[in-house]
Amino acid sequence: MYKKVHLDLTILCAGITAAIMVSMSLLYLHISETEIYKNHFNSFQNDMNTIVMNLENQSIISMEWLSRMESRGNYIFYVLDNGIPYLYNILKDNSEKSLLFTEAMEAYEKHFSIAPSDDNSMSSFLFSSHMEYTFTSPSTGNDYYGCVIEIEKNSSTLQVIILSLLDSLENQIFRQRILFLMINIVTIFLLSAFSWIFTGKLLKPISENQQKQAQFIASASHELRTPLAVILSSAESCRDASPEKQSSFLETIKREGFHMSALIEDMLTLSSSDSQRFPVRMQPVELDTLLLNSCEAFESLAKKKLITISLSLPENTLPLCFCDSDRIRQVISILLHNAVSYTDEGGFIKLSLSYDKEQFHIFVTDNGIGIPDDDKKKIFDRFYRVEKSRSTKGHFGLGLSIAYEIIKSHGGTIGVKDAFGGGSTFFIYLPVK
Ligand code: ADP
Repeated sequence: MYKKVHLDLTILCAGITAAIMVSMSLLYLHISETEIYKNHFNSFQNDMNTIVMNLENQSIISMEWLSRMESRGNYIFYVLDNGIPYLYNILKDNSEKSLLFTEAMEAYEKHFSIAPSDDNSMSSFLFSSHMEYTFTSPSTGNDYYGCVIEIEKNSSTLQVIILSLLDSLENQIFRQRILFLMINIVTIFLLSAFSWIFTGKLLKPISENQQKQAQFIASASHELRTPLAVILSSAESCRDASPEKQSSFLETIKREGFHMSALIEDMLTLSSSDSQRFPVRMQPVELDTLLLNSCEAFESLAKKKLITISLSLPENTLPLCFCDSDRIRQVISILLHNAVSYTDEGGFIKLSLSYDKEQFHIFVTDNGIGIPDDDKKKIFDRFYRVEKSRSTKGHFGLGLSIAYEIIKSHGGTIGVKDAFGGGSTFFIYLPVK
């Protein structure tokens, strides 16, 4: 489930960003290619203007000049005087070239008839005209810029056809496309990796929460199953039992019912803290009075185990603590109940309160069985018990997690350390303001 959501989110995140990036780069590529073609064609037209001026000013077109022009601009020239090919062409031509020029002339005539004299690319001189165009040779499939120049001098007509192969320009554009493709592939790969990490980080708290909830439900069901099983079996046995036994079974059912009710109460408290609905009513509280009352409430329970409870309070008057008195009393009760439960007969429990400018310090110390270092942090987790076997009935492993949530909602700290001489000391720090 988590993996599928993670993958879907990654695809969505990377897909959208990649789609935006690819369309932007395609747009850029299109604009850039159009610009390159335009500049190249403009530069060809400029070259043709220069050549036409040269031709107008020359009385004789020499073979050297033609060959110089050809090699300088990578052009191919074909010259006709009154429709008869120049000796230059007769000497250099082969059948392929002749075919190419025939194709160029056909393209020119087609172009010219489609775009007659008002065509922009056509410049007219007194006795000359020239026209530039693009064409694809049907025989070779190559693209060319073509220019047909016509000059009338002394009642003779000079026709010059100049062709320029576009392969270097097309190679440049092809290289540019490949470069863009590679950049896009690398960027999509990086985007996917980034999206995977990013969405993973986003989903981590959700997945952890989901795991915790699943664990919570599993532990809760496990804890509820035991008293429920006892209730069901006692109810079953109760039917055929003697009246004395019946009252004992009913007593068991009642006791287990109380356990279940306490467990459900604890679970509801934790679930309301998870959904941020933890009711905390802050009011000024005299912490010393609160601790005194809590201590007195546990005296009889401690006495039953011959445990002594002592309370140490500061001598001077305490500032008022801004807290929810019921909730803080609940925390102290959880700590005292644990201290009584995990301290052997004849032990002692010490409750003390002190404060400084910033915090109230509450300590609950016992000389009981203590808590191993590895478990000190884990005991605040839900349903965690150091050794399940040593827990007495009515201990579900939820007390300290409730205490933790309450102190957290007060902006305070709760923790545990070893007590001097054995046992444990739980400490609570609550802010003075
Ligand atoms: P429980 O209801 O089982 O006491 P808690 O969340 O209150 O659950 O405590 C978690 C575990 O921490 C207990 O099961 C116990 O193993 C350990 N623990 C808590 N308080 C003490 C203590 N004062 N001395 C030793 N062990 C303790």
